[in-house]
Amino acid sequence: MSKSLKDEIKQEVDKRRTFAIISHPDAGKTTLTEKLLLFGGAIRLAGTVKARKASRHATSDWMEIEKQRGISVTSSVMQFDYNGHRVNILDTPGHQDFSEDTYRTLTAADSAVMLIDVAKGVEAQTIKLFQVCRKRGIPIFTFINKLDREGQSPFDLMEELERVLGIRAVPMNWPIGMGRELCGVYDRMKNQVELFKGNDDHSSISVRKVDDYNDSIIREMAGDYLHNQLVQDLELLDVAGDQFDFEKVRAGELTPLFFGSAVNNFGVQTFLENFLQLAPSPTPRNTTDGPLDPTNEKFSGYVFKIQANMNPAHRDRIAFLRICSGRFERGMSVRHTRVGKEIKLAQPQQFLAQDRDIVESAYPGDIIGLFDPGIFRIGDSLSQGSEIIFDELPTFSPELFAKVTVKNALKHKQYQKGIDQLTEEGTIQVFHSTSGFDETILGVVGQLQFEVFEYRMRAEYGVEIQLHRMQFQFARWIVDDKIDPSKFRINSSLVKDKKDNYVALFENEYAMRTAIDKNPTSKFLEMAP
Ligand code: GDP
Repeated sequence: MSKSLKDEIKQEVDKRRTFAIISHPDAGKTTLTEKLLLFGGAIRLAGTVKARKASRHATSDWMEIEKQRGISVTSSVMQFDYNGHRVNILDTPGHQDFSEDTYRTLTAADSAVMLIDVAKGVEAQTIKLFQVCRKRGIPIFTFINKLDREGQSPFDLMEELERVLGIRAVPMNWPIGMGRELCGVYDRMKNQVELFKGNDDHSSISVRKVDDYNDSIIREMAGDYLHNQLVQDLELLDVAGDQFDFEKVRAGELTPLFFGSAVNNFGVQTFLENFLQLAPSPTPRNTTDGPLDPTNEKFSGYVFKIQANMNPAHRDRIAFLRICSGRFERGMSVRHTRVGKEIKLAQPQQFLAQDRDIVESAYPGDIIGLFDPGIFRIGDSLSQGSEIIFDELPTFSPELFAKVTVKNALKHKQYQKGIDQLTEEGTIQVFHSTSGFDETILGVVGQLQFEVFEYRMRAEYGVEIQLHRMQFQFARWIVDDKIDPSKFRINSSLVKDKKDNYVALFENEYAMRTAIDKNPTSKFLEMAP
């Protein structure tokens, strides 16, 4: 019995691929996601993911704020099967709803797909998300999108990846022409060409096996000029480019590079197939007792996100749990390590776009949503049998700050309760000033977090608050025995986080640099120690 459960778990783990797409708004993440889901047949209509964006306003029964802004506050999880794999795509909010949740979601992914617009190259939000993935050391795959438009040359893009992100790229395929001239991509691994048929509408795609890039079929279909260009480029890559190195890819040191056009469904299938082959299945997760293997028979997982009020009528919250080991079964009892209690997981849900489905069983790499009557916090570990504690989730450096005051002083108690709870949930970070008055300062990664905080204080705690934006842009946790607050006055401020760690806030990069230079014995950390 026991052996067969282990075998079953191993089989399920091996076929799973859980990843997030990281990109800057408008690079084509929604479009790519939609195409990937179509390959897997997870959704029937091509427009479903798109429609989610367009018609949210009308159909959303989620938070009021979401309706007001017509955006999604959640990152949902989409699942589909393809070629024997079970694929989980974690949707990372990227537009105005960029927040700490976006970063935390990345902790639940085993790999990332970095999507880049061929014309715009590496953009701001991509850099931030990349850095979080880099710190975790997860493999990062790159898809250069919108090849049907004029863009930068592939070599320039590779150079940009290295210069801006510090990662070398190994092209898995290579474009044949670009923009109006785009007629295909050459797959370097499989020695085949994927060609557009018809010049303008790019409507049909054919895949042809070839001997190598000198094959005359390519010349026939692409013409002399483009073929010569292709041969030149690939010869250069063969001589001067990086060799494909599986270990380096797995360690996140080398990114496999793909070219395509999501909206034309071009290069997407090749990408998906290569990705599924190269991307890791769920890997061991760190606990206070060392790494825990996903094939361990005992169920375990941790909460990486809490979503409040998905259904305003019920005021329920949903805790998103990443399964790390064992098999989940509906109705099972697990240990809630932090509170030291057994709880029954009776109503778990999985998320396919916005539809909620009840899950009967799930395995490592899967994400389940648990109804939360207020018992979960970000980072909580759940486990079967013995107590397991997963490594704490990192606290990400906020970039926007505001002083908070209560409009009605009599509401102070509710205010405190609200602040405490919302901090625990990870909605906001709270800091206290170290000089004179005890001021409460909120720190967030995205503007939306302020709005959610304001809304929830009013809706759930009955407290009207006022936020006064501050000029600070950077926060650094300071590790130092003898700290001198007088050193943090000019364009900066010294505050404490909820665990009484010192944090310096800076208005600009210059102020931060100066402080770091003047305090050579202190460490300035981007994440809480
Ligand atoms: P997101 O903000 O990253 O989710 O981007 P979307 O998927 O919404 O795409 C942004 C815009 O780029 C939309 O108008 C898409 O139709 C368009 N787009 C996506 N992929 C391609 C592509 O391969 N070529 C071109 N020309 N446009 C694309």
